[in-house]
Order: sequence, then structure tokens, then C-alpha cells
Amino acid sequence: MSRAISTLDWRGAGAGSGAIVLRSVRVLDPRSGIDAEHDLVIRDGRVAELANPCSAEVAGAEVIEADGLLAVPAFFDPHVHLRTPGREDKEDIETGSRAAAAGGYCGIIGMANTAPPVDTPAAIESLRERAQADATVPVGFVATVTRGMRGSELTDMAELGDAGAGGFSDDGLPIQSARVMRRALQYQALAGLQIALHEEDPELSGSGVMHEGEAAALLGMAGVPSVSESTMIARDCALAAYENARIHVQHLSARESVEVIAAAKAAGVQVTCEATPHHLALTDDSVRSLDSRFKMNPPLRSEDDRQALIEGLRSGTIDCVATDHAPHALVDKEVPFEQAAMGVTGLETAFAVLNTDLVMPGILDLGTVVDRLSAGAAAFGFELPSLAPDAEANVALIDLDAEWEAGSDGWESRSENSCFAGRQLTGRSMLTIVAGQVAFRQRSFAMGVA
Ligand SMILES: [Zn+2]
Ligand SMILES: [Zn+2]
Repeated sequence: MSRAISTLDWRGAGAGSGAIVLRSVRVLDPRSGIDAEHDLVIRDGRVAELANPCSAEVAGAEVIEADGLLAVPAFFDPHVHLRTPGREDKEDIETGSRAAAAGGYCGIIGMANTAPPVDTPAAIESLRERAQADATVPVGFVATVTRGMRGSELTDMAELGDAGAGGFSDDGLPIQSARVMRRALQYQALAGLQIALHEEDPELSGSGVMHEGEAAALLGMAGVPSVSESTMIARDCALAAYENARIHVQHLSARESVEVIAAAKAAGVQVTCEATPHHLALTDDSVRSLDSRFKMNPPLRSEDDRQALIEGLRSGTIDCVATDHAPHALVDKEVPFEQAAMGVTGLETAFAVLNTDLVMPGILDLGTVVDRLSAGAAAFGFELPSLAPDAEANVALIDLDAEWEAGSDGWESRSENSCFAGRQLTGRSMLTIVAGQVAFRQRSFAMGVA
């Protein structure tokens, strides 16, 4: 049974919502087979009607003139770092969720590799309370798989589930021990929740700081081979099959990984996976500059790997896009490449980057990108956002023609470590509606009220 996204913790939960009409908007919901101009009428938190353009008369509604704009199911990011507790200088629930809303997201899942890691019911409860006070969009929190992310002893997964954990992940670190991984999959049945995996073999990654490829060879840097990721994915798919459990593989970066997932899915393994906008748009060519904004884990890989990710996203082997939004302070990034922190922000640029680099050149169609940007909800047991009548009204209103420079008018995120900063992008989310309530408006977006 999947849950409504709005049942996650956020500031708007339970609030009443007035009616909204998106006037003469192009409604695109590929999963529901909708692509036509309508008056999109939202009432009581749900899609009330897809009326003929300029026909809807709804007393007391806020009317938003949306002629020339695009309404799509709002996005869902199953992989975000909110840095709370412990590194609120980088991000917190308020700034991270606002960045999500600004990017067109109606829900996000926060990772547990905080300081300290989220491994107790009390920690989950405290985060949930903060989200109820501070979060602009619904936020779920995973707990760690192992205590203190030390990889040896499992957390109390059933108790954490009772406290409201949205799943489990040691993201940031792999679960090195196959024995511990197997036990986690056995306990999954008790909690009934997803286990999300950062797949990496530390023995193979060694001291690597970038993809083991041409750029690393040229620069004389230690590389992280693709098989560091794919061998661990293969191990965990085998364990999931053996235990009849399900797993979600995070941030795929390599061709070999896509091939392993495709084979596992064909064999009936319950596995879902994600890819990030930066792995879909960039290659290790970018690290030749030794600009630490392009340093993340897994690293940007070769053009061949990138093509495999794009093909995987197109075919559905890769279920969804996740940003792995990973805010860092300047002091952690403005150091030599080898020492720089790994990770990039991504919530505010995800749609625009995919639109600019993959949709506009005709590599992927818009419907596929829109679908994959919200499909991650299902991997964590949530209803897929939809614009079909009676669906919960989770809507991203997009201006496909908006041209903007990423970061030129600042960020909603507290951190600025975007690998796309300064890029000219086309397409931008202007307004985000969550469960019928306006969660965000771009400052540049004026609206008319009836
Ligand atoms: Zn990770
Ligand atoms: Zn991550």
C-alpha cells in the first residue's frame, strides 16, 4: 500500500487549502497519458478537474494565468542530504526543503549520515518534529542500517520504523560486510521499509579521488574504477534475491552497474535504482580543471558510462532521477582537489539541467524526464505524483522557455557548491503546489488573483 506524499512531515500538513486555478496551462502527465491544454482546477488539496481552457469559474479561487506554461506532476527526490543534525552551517531542514520546493519538488527523503548519524528512534522523532515546524515540502527521513554507520551492528529497524523512519541507508558509506548486509535484508521484513544502498567496494576505491580513466591518468591522480560500484551492486542483488528482499541502489554512475541492474531486474530481483543529473549531464572531462565543484562520490565517469546511464533512464532500467543534493561549506571545497569534500548541490537545477542537456538536444523526450523526476516516490512506498482528476494536487508549474544563469540570483540552499553554477540553463520551475497549497513561487513569477 502506498501512502500519500503529504502524509510525510512538513509545515503545511493538515492545513486547509483554498482553490487554485491554473488557467490555460499545458498539462503533461505521461503516466496518466495526459498532454493537453486545460484549466487545472485544484480544490481541497486535490486535482478537482481538468477543464477546457478558460472555462473554469471557481468562486474564491486564486487564478494563476499559466498560458504558455507547463504543469507536470511535482518531483520527488529519494536522496537528499539535509545536514541536520550537526552541520546546520551547510544546510538545515528549512533551507533544504525550500531548495526542493524551488526546484519543483513535492517531497524529499533525507539521508542519515549526519553528525551524529540518525540511528535511534529519538533522533527520528526529533527530525520529524523539526520538519513539522520548518519544512516547506514533505520530508521523510531514513535511519542508518548499522549503528553509528560503523558497518558492524544493525540498528533496531522495527523500532525505527515505528518511530516513523522512511527507510534505511548508510549512504556516504557502503555496507562492507556481506554478512551484515544479509542480516539487514532479513530484518527488512519486520520494518517493511526500503533499504537504499551506496554501492562501493572500499578495497577497489582505495584512495581514488576521481574516475579511473583518461583524466586521472593524465593528472596522475588515483582513480576509482567502475567495478568498485558494479561488483557491490551484483553482490547485493544476489543477496536480495536470496532473501526475497528489496533494495534501492543509489547514484548509479557506470555502464557496468546499469548492466548488472538490467540483468537482476530480468531475473526478477526486487531492485530499483536512481541516477543523478550530474552523472547524466557531465563526464570526467570536467575534473581536468581540478575544480573541486566537480568532485563527488561516485565520481563523474566517461562519456560511455554517461551514455549507458541515459539509455538506462530511457529504458526504465534506471527507475528515477535523484539529486544526491549534498551541500558543503566553501571551506570544505576551496582546498586542493584531493582534500576537497565530495558532493554537489542539485535540487534547484535538476529539471533545468536535464531539460537543457537532454531534452532540448532531442536525446530524451520531455515526458520521460518528467516521469523519472518523480518516480522515486514509488521506491519508498509513496503514491506517484499525478495530475489525473482526484489525485493529490502535487504540481510543478514550469516555464520551458525561461533562460537563466544557475546561481546568478542566489540559492535557496544554504550552500553554493553546485557544479552547474554559472551555466546558462533553459526551463525553470516557477511555482510548486503541494497537496493543494502553494509551497514556493519564484520571485520573478508574478500572478493574478481573481
Ligand atoms: Zn552515496
Ligand atoms: Zn548521498
